Amino acid sequence: MNFRTELLRQAGKLASAQTARRVELTIQIARLESKFSQPGAADQISILKADAENCEKALHRFAAYRPEKQAIADCPYCWIVNGESNKLRCVGREETTLVSPQ
Ligand SMILES: [Zn+2]
Repeated sequence: MNFRTELLRQAGKLASAQTARRVELTIQIARLESKFSQPGAADQISILKADAENCEKALHRFAAYRPEKQAIADCPYCWIVNGESNKLRCVGREETTLVSPQ
């Protein structure tokens, strides 16, 4: 398989995992909101909400991910999960395999 196709496949898996995670977070938030009087609940809710909002962006980021159009592709994990644009580098055996043009 072409390595850029593989990057897209990895990005797609990450985006769907983030989408599933968002559903779980939404359930957790709803549970916490029903126990709002508990100490620390409000803080925990705001952390979970920020996390859920970030997860919501994963599909949009996936739509914008174009490793085939970049000289050096962006890391799918950093982009989909964190919204950070980091170029892939050869830092170890596995990454070397990943970034070698086939
Ligand atoms: Zn990365």
